[in-house]
Amino acid sequence: MFDNTIPLLGVLALVALAGLLTLRPLRRAVLTRSIFSAYRKVLPQMSDTERDALEAGTVWWEGELFQGKPDWRKLHAYPVPTLTAEEQSFLDKECEEACRLVDDWKVTHELYDLPHEAWRYIKDKGFLGMIIPKKYGGLEFSAYAHSQVVTKLSTRSSALSVSVMVPNSLGPAELLLHYGTEEQKNHYLPRLAKGIEVPAFALTSPWAGSDAASIPDSGVVCKGIYQGKEVLGMRVSWDKRYITLAPVCTVFGLAFHLYDPDGLLGDKKHIGITCALVPYDHPGVDTGRRHFPLNAMFMNGPTRGKEVFMPLDFIIGGPAMAGQGWRMLMECLAAGRSISLPSSNTGMAQMTARAVGGYARVRSQFKMAVGKFEGVEEALTRIGAYTYMMDAVRKMTAGAVDLGEKPSVVSAIAKYHVTERARVVVNDGMDVIGGKGICLGPSNFLGRAYQQIPVAITVEGANILTRSLIIFGQGAIRCHPYLLPEMRAAQNPDVRQGLVDFDRALFGHIGFTVKNGWRAFRQGLTGSHFVTVNTDVAPEMKRYYQQLTRFSAAFAFLSDVSLLVLGGSVKRREKLSARLGDILAQMYLISCTLKRYEAEGRKKEDAPLAHWAIWDAMYKAQQAFDGVIANFPVRFIAAVVNRLIFPWGHPYVVPSDEVGHQVAKALIAPSATRDRLTAECYLPLQENEPVGAIELALKATLEAEQIEAKIRAAEKDGRFDGNPQANVRDIAIVAFEAGVINAAEYEVMKRRNHLRDIVVRVDDFPFDYGVATANKPADDRMAA
Ligand SMILES: Cc1cc2nc3c(=O)[nH]c(=O)nc-3n(C[C@H](O)[C@H](O)[C@H](O)COP(=O)(O)OP(=O)(O)OC[C@H]3O[C@@H](n4cnc5c(N)ncnc54)[C@H](O)[C@@H]3O)c2cc1C
Repeated sequence: MFDNTIPLLGVLALVALAGLLTLRPLRRAVLTRSIFSAYRKVLPQMSDTERDALEAGTVWWEGELFQGKPDWRKLHAYPVPTLTAEEQSFLDKECEEACRLVDDWKVTHELYDLPHEAWRYIKDKGFLGMIIPKKYGGLEFSAYAHSQVVTKLSTRSSALSVSVMVPNSLGPAELLLHYGTEEQKNHYLPRLAKGIEVPAFALTSPWAGSDAASIPDSGVVCKGIYQGKEVLGMRVSWDKRYITLAPVCTVFGLAFHLYDPDGLLGDKKHIGITCALVPYDHPGVDTGRRHFPLNAMFMNGPTRGKEVFMPLDFIIGGPAMAGQGWRMLMECLAAGRSISLPSSNTGMAQMTARAVGGYARVRSQFKMAVGKFEGVEEALTRIGAYTYMMDAVRKMTAGAVDLGEKPSVVSAIAKYHVTERARVVVNDGMDVIGGKGICLGPSNFLGRAYQQIPVAITVEGANILTRSLIIFGQGAIRCHPYLLPEMRAAQNPDVRQGLVDFDRALFGHIGFTVKNGWRAFRQGLTGSHFVTVNTDVAPEMKRYYQQLTRFSAAFAFLSDVSLLVLGGSVKRREKLSARLGDILAQMYLISCTLKRYEAEGRKKEDAPLAHWAIWDAMYKAQQAFDGVIANFPVRFIAAVVNRLIFPWGHPYVVPSDEVGHQVAKALIAPSATRDRLTAECYLPLQENEPVGAIELALKATLEAEQIEAKIRAAEKDGRFDGNPQANVRDIAIVAFEAGVINAAEYEVMKRRNHLRDIVVRVDDFPFDYGVATANKPADDRMAA
């Protein structure tokens, strides 16, 4: 009797509970009220700056990934960004010319700056005003065109690309466009568009880097004399460092806390962070000194001022915008972050893929092109596949900006993951080219890129912070359908309304979590084979859509469980938060890659690049799941979640060597795939240009390969035995003299050898080159 009664009672209790839960007033009174008051107590107080940062921007594709059921139709319906004829022409002519005017070795070693003619050219041609509308004399380029320009310039010189990138990123022009008064816009924008004004933006201080809202720089509202008249203004003191273009700027945005102790503007004593536009020659302003950010030679330096009086009209947007500086910065951050570093770092990767791939075919050791050794292939594979994925990410993210999005989470993902992949790509490139990358000089094409990588990692949100605090921290709150409504309800001063809203959000949330948990389990049990992909996709990619759908449900479920168990402390548990962010980020990178593959017409020849990159990212996402589960503080829950998400164990292993081989092969020979992968690369086909020489040498190497095989066969047969000239450098002439190859073939070999020798050459200098005069040795080494 007991056996039957207990389940029956259980079922009845569940039915009763379910019935109770559908009666909202009763549910609120019995259950929600106590949860609501407990939640209000534990909800951490948020500062205004935190709230501005969290609420800034819009949610885009990452919202789909966060909610456990991505709608693939949406992904493929996003328009593929394209260039107008004018933008394309700018890329083909003006960008090519700007690249031609810059010799990176001269810039970084001799001039310590861009050459004058390059500065003149980029100013005159409007490079500094790409985001400024035409009515102000700017180029009014799309975000995508802007990204294309930065990508291309970065394949040539970081000083060039940064000098163009910064005026078009978060700074005076962008802030004026959104918040400036008509007078400010009419004065500054035409001048910025033509480079008559060079802008900088000064936020960072020695005491406040990542925690930029804590800058000690301050201004006090007071009266003072400006242009001979007494006006209401501010006395501002600041000490800023690392400010790009500061040494050469003519006007800079300055962020500081504004105080009004005498109540001259109202009753608020601490008005808040304020952004002003300050001319470099305003009395008391100190700019002009520079730092040397890892020999990049773009201008960067400090600016200081002590009790500098400036009128309130200097505030961007005028006095009405005093105190709105942080909100302004947070609102504008996403656009620049979506474009600048993802583009510049993709440019670096494209150049690496092109030049290192070519070099690996031209350079032989052990009588074989080094790019054909399996060990080198591994590095080439990462270079190729990551470059493909990085390019996909920067294009799709710039496309989001063109759709009117301010994608705060996605831009953080793009910034972090593209720069981290660039680090891998350039490092791998350095390994492949060996000493050639190490000895600096005019023929080194990669050493400066290698030096530059840490700059990208540090700026626009240092990477560790971006990964640990922003991607999931902001992503969870912004993308989750119920979290923000719950928080807003709990903070509602109208407690009754707050309870009603909280109840609705809470039960929506519970349903959401349960559904995602069930979906993740079901899809895990069936290996996601029965997941329907709701749009037409390339058959060879279909499994990724299915697996990603499964991972999305699992991620949504794991996020909710983590938030439930860790609550507000998830912010401090950075390692867990970072790994959760990694899962979201890898899913975004994969989405971009799938989108690229479709957008480019499902090119079968490019499929290995997409396969390897996606496979690797799926594996990394799986590792991130593991990292969260293995370190979850409540072990019982971790075990249950693990069983639910991975009922049969792990679906992914490392990407296959065979696919990797196909990727590496695509890099070491000319092909349409290689051209698409490196489409923005500046390629001057001249022997005195290091990257151009590799292109020429690659072609010559391929033309000579059959002839070389003939020579090797003759060598194996002992035809050149005992001839000291039959060495790696001179064997062609021996073969010619021995009649193994004819005159025409010898010419091909000679040309190959000539270009090969240029490519493998490194620079050398007099032994006292660059030594300070005071430290010069005596004339004769022996006499020293
Ligand atoms: C070349 C260059 C150009 C720049 N250009 C400009 C510019 O034009 N204008 C401007 O205003 N600023 C500029 N900056 C400043 C740049 O934005 C800051 O360097 C950056 O914000 C980091 O500050 P920091 O270097 O002081 O590092 P810190 O803030 O001291 O950080 C040190 C480390 O701690 C990590 N970290 C900090 N807080 C956390 C956290 N809560 N969780 C996890 N990790 C954390 C960071 O990720 C970093 O790895 C530039 C910097 C450089 C180097």
